[in-house]
Amino acid sequence: MSVKFFTNCNVVDVVNEKVYAGSVLVDGSTIKEVGENLACPEGAQVIDLGGKTLVPGFFNCHTHMCLAGDADPKYNETDAQLTMMALKNLKKLVNSGCTFIRDVGGMNYIDVDIRNEAAKGGMVAPDMQVSGKCICMTGGHGWSMGREADGPDDCRKAAREQLRAGADWVKVMATGGVMTKGVEPGSPQLNEDELRAAIEEAHKAGAKTCTHAQGMTGIKNALRAGIDSIEHGFFMDDWCFDWMKEHNVFFVPTLAAMYWIKVNGTEAGIPEFAVRKVENTFDAHIDTFQRAYKAGVKIALGTDAGTPFNTHDKTAYEMILMTRAGMSNWDALRAGTLVSAELCSVKDTLGSIEPGKRANFAVLAKNPVEDIEAVMDCRMTVVGGEVLYEA
Ligand SMILES: [Zn+2]
Repeated sequence: MSVKFFTNCNVVDVVNEKVYAGSVLVDGSTIKEVGENLACPEGAQVIDLGGKTLVPGFFNCHTHMCLAGDADPKYNETDAQLTMMALKNLKKLVNSGCTFIRDVGGMNYIDVDIRNEAAKGGMVAPDMQVSGKCICMTGGHGWSMGREADGPDDCRKAAREQLRAGADWVKVMATGGVMTKGVEPGSPQLNEDELRAAIEEAHKAGAKTCTHAQGMTGIKNALRAGIDSIEHGFFMDDWCFDWMKEHNVFFVPTLAAMYWIKVNGTEAGIPEFAVRKVENTFDAHIDTFQRAYKAGVKIALGTDAGTPFNTHDKTAYEMILMTRAGMSNWDALRAGTLVSAELCSVKDTLGSIEPGKRANFAVLAKNPVEDIEAVMDCRMTVVGGEVLYEA
């Protein structure tokens, strides 16, 4: 096992809201010691970070590793093409400081195979949890890449199929969405009893569940059915926030997904129906985010990477968007690290720079607590103690 001494850096402590000049001692894949006056043990490899800032590796809890970020995705690639796209995307994630992803909508179980291969080591990839195919109603949002299911029994079977394939999460579609033609974000899709059947199966197997949910009726259906995280959540009221706090349900707003569609528009080739849906919901989404933050709902970081112009090298931009919407820099940094780790049930081993935790971190040129834009300037990424990227 190799011992590495990362030194001459500012360490960002997201637990105690502290930034201090210090060093991080890594033994194999684990952080052994962290502190201001650490001595370098004999034989350790010294990595001088030249005064840069060391932060916990970022999480992206809403990715689609097989999607490229095309303006108007066609869903006609072969499995070989999708696999190569996924490998390119995983590299982009790592190179931008992202060390953990929750992939929530794969294609043909390529995500499961890649997770299994990555776990063997030797790949440039973040740590990951995957969900296999999303479960949607026939013709519902995501149908072109998901598993269509109708009625509670079929939803139960669909969930069991994902678990059999090796999914860590089961993703269900509670409402319409932006990127599927002919469905509206506000309209409910899988019913409460359909959602409950799939969620029950996941929970029985020890897996967690997340839902694409944008309109209020579908969001409430999913919450009552026992969902663990709400993705997008354009329209939520206080009832939703109270339920989420009481039942430990997380909010993954994916502000980036709507932002990149809005700023690029139809002139960049994004379908008119998608741009129109974003225009209609953008303000409500920001408003919901602000109210959820104020209400104390747990907010985790996901970008929906793979949607138009929302490429896999922009995980950290979500933190910038969160602060523009009123979140503090510290809370945005925690959303991208510790809170996301909690959502993925890995808080004991990831999400902060502490002895005993897995050595996943990013080295930034500047301190993001002072200027959040610094999250986009990653100079080194370490996953499991291995330096996978260096600028
Ligand atoms: Zn998505």
